[in-house]
Amino acid sequence: MNNETQVQPESWNFEYTYRTLPEIFYRDQKPDVPALPEMVILNEPLAVELGLKPSQIERAERMLSGAVVPDDARPLSQAYAGFQYGHFTMLGDGRAVLLGEYITPDKRRVDIQLKGSGRTPFSRGGDGFAALLPMLREYIISEAMAALGIPTTRSLAVIRTGRDIVRETILPGAVLTRVAASHIRVGTFNFASQFGTKSDVQKLADYCIHRHFPHIETYERGTPERYNAFFLEVARLQAALIAGWQLVGFIHGVMNTDNMAISGETIDYGPCAFMDTYDPDTVFSSIDRYGRYCYKNQPGIGVWNLSRFVETLLPLLHDEQDAAIKIAEAGIDVYRKYYQECWLNGMRAKLGLSNAEDQDEALANNLLALMEKHKLDYTNTFRSLIPWNNVSHLHKLSGFADWNKHWQSRLARHGQTPEEIALTMGRSNPAVIPRNHRVEGALCAAGNGDLSVMEKLLAVLGKPFEESAEYSIPPEPSAARYVTYCGT
Ligand code: AMP
Ligand code: MG
Repeated sequence: MNNETQVQPESWNFEYTYRTLPEIFYRDQKPDVPALPEMVILNEPLAVELGLKPSQIERAERMLSGAVVPDDARPLSQAYAGFQYGHFTMLGDGRAVLLGEYITPDKRRVDIQLKGSGRTPFSRGGDGFAALLPMLREYIISEAMAALGIPTTRSLAVIRTGRDIVRETILPGAVLTRVAASHIRVGTFNFASQFGTKSDVQKLADYCIHRHFPHIETYERGTPERYNAFFLEVARLQAALIAGWQLVGFIHGVMNTDNMAISGETIDYGPCAFMDTYDPDTVFSSIDRYGRYCYKNQPGIGVWNLSRFVETLLPLLHDEQDAAIKIAEAGIDVYRKYYQECWLNGMRAKLGLSNAEDQDEALANNLLALMEKHKLDYTNTFRSLIPWNNVSHLHKLSGFADWNKHWQSRLARHGQTPEEIALTMGRSNPAVIPRNHRVEGALCAAGNGDLSVMEKLLAVLGKPFEESAEYSIPPEPSAARYVTYCGT
């Protein structure tokens, strides 16, 4: 250790409420000390949002990479399991450590996690490291999601470690500093239920209630009402989240239960990508051969994952299993109904509507069917319907004039001015999403040492509802099908 790394960073006063859980849930784990930490990108707006003082982020490449750990820090790696493509597997933080829980000036508690920080007891065959470009990719897409208003973990920094890592080729290693409401997953419950006791599951549920849903603390500990209320909260957050994904054409790509956060934030940006041409079967992940996690399946996978979640809670919901299952099924129904409500209200807003009529679902679905038939770009088609835009290109398409007649009469019944409609549509239909070819272009330049392309892209993605002729261009129709990879 050189002299520099011995200098203490300004204390973050980390807390560790996670350590109040039974010991099976975590292991003490220090991050690996990077050879030569070098800041690639620091998210200054997020640092401001978190109320970090300049002294806390001064020379942040040291602490946010694990090069120096504050004396009072007691980092840990978390245990979890998960159903991966339907199969139960023991997992855990194989390449991440929770540096600590940071309390913002407005009293929010967030996890500060280092991803790519070396081996842990949960690494299995992996090296515990992460490559620079996939970490920058997570940074770009998670920050784009935040700007779109979709709940997500955030990216505070990406730091090169100075270590070469071995994949198919030798790649530069990096650490991503991830900020999350917490990193507790459905998979954490799968782990507790499989390897722990009923009391472990209850303690985990009580911890989540205290941390994420304090308003249901009014239900007494140990009562079925409390854990049912907890399940319903998680179900509703998932419904709203997945509806949010569908509305912007986001495909998560690996909706295993370990990648589903109890907080309702999008987590784990591995093989995710945004859809260009509307096609409900779209799948980008190289390993998702049967399309389990394709666009149209995401809401249903939400049901499947919640089922694996509520199974872990059954002993807390009722003493008799049949009765517990009935309660669980009612909760899953709440998800289904709430998902539909969120999606339909989102579609209404995308079509400039702020009240409800029975035929709205058909109106939205008929437009989607036209998009599918004519292979239209999902984002740009919605955006072009905003009254200030030109839709002449759509009028040439068979079926559009008829659909438009229905939409116009629906708008007329609604009775809002074109300005009001434009306002609703303008803030519900992004002009810019992280288009795959743009993200790849930015990463390619970053790989060659030029960060300017990524910085410009990030600036545009930070204001997704502002027009940008340049960044809203879809890929060339001749472009090769986009493929994403996980575990990179
Ligand atoms: P993910 O595909 O990122 O959701 O990761 C699935 C599991 O693999 C988690 O337990 C990760 O911690 C673990 N993992 C992914 N990459 C590595 C790696 N390079 N070394 C060790 N564990 C890893
Ligand atoms: Mg994961």
